[in-house]
Amino acid sequence: MTDRGLNFPAGTPFLALSQTELRRVAGECITAPLWMRVWLLALADANRIGHAEFAPGDLQARLGAKVNPNTGAVVAVSPQAVSNAVRTCKQHQLITPESGTRCLVLSHHLAQKAGHGTRSCRRHGIFVHEAHELHEGQK
Ligand SMILES: [Zn+2]
Repeated sequence: MTDRGLNFPAGTPFLALSQTELRRVAGECITAPLWMRVWLLALADANRIGHAEFAPGDLQARLGAKVNPNTGAVVAVSPQAVSNAVRTCKQHQLITPESGTRCLVLSHHLAQKAGHGTRSCRRHGIFVHEAHELHEGQK
């Protein structure tokens, strides 16, 4: 682990993204494919262990509307459409198989978050104590 909390293999290029802007784009770009918007929300809400938790119905509410590519009509995002989008993200390996509509999980090799943020997930029953984090940092 580095002093910035990131641990990509040596030589791996990486970049930092604004989670605030990712959240905005996911909500506003209703012409984008729904699976892409779900992935943006996974990135936007990821905590220090790559989990993005959502209250029941929250993921659907935050996606709001989408444009039907066949008709051009703006329609409300349905729960089934959210589930399908999550499944597509899994197929593309953008989120891990343990993901669902209540928690989107990013793999460590894809995304890591430094700085502030929780290291827990109620949905998956994970809580990392700070003492453990310090122990890992000393390795
Ligand atoms: Zn989780």
